[in-house]
Amino acid sequence: MTTSSQFAPGTLERVRAFINTAVTAEEDVLSSPDRASEWLLRHELLDAAEEIGAADLVFLSDWRRALRDVALANNGGAQTAAELAWGDMRDRAARLPLRLLVGQTPEQTSIVPAGTSAQRVAGRLAGYLYDGVKAGTFRRLKACPEQTCLYAFYDHSKNASATWCSMAVCGNRAKARRRREREKGDQGGFEGWQPSA
Ligand SMILES: [Zn+2]
Repeated sequence: MTTSSQFAPGTLERVRAFINTAVTAEEDVLSSPDRASEWLLRHELLDAAEEIGAADLVFLSDWRRALRDVALANNGGAQTAAELAWGDMRDRAARLPLRLLVGQTPEQTSIVPAGTSAQRVAGRLAGYLYDGVKAGTFRRLKACPEQTCLYAFYDHSKNASATWCSMAVCGNRAKARRRREREKGDQGGFEGWQPSA
């Protein structure tokens, strides 16, 4: 469910939008180099001089899944799933090339993503994740645990206690399913991700 109230602050919104390219687009934006380049350029994740090739699409899809997994981990659930998600992110991020860019003055020095165009896209996303972690905003970037949804949203609730992208849609769907399972005498809960709240 897309509403502007679910936008993330600052550059974290680019991470959220990137995760949702698998969910909200009629056709996956990572299905062709042209489509991917156009979308990434429009969302300031790609420079005009950079190019996305066919081989990059798998790399970027893997990054998207990894980002979604840590957003799912932000939504509570099993500890092992969260450890797996962050372990995967740790390995992935460790392989990203970075460069120290020294400007005209020491104050203009910064760490910038390097490598191929796709690696630089991933480097920017990782940088925004890092900024969000430092600012304390990243933990509010959550993916909806409903297995048919997985939509990424920013939790603006007071106690960061939101679980579903939409209580009216996914929340009620999960509730109805739990009720059906209870009526069947099944204690298994719903399949897949198990939010703690
Ligand atoms: Zn949902």
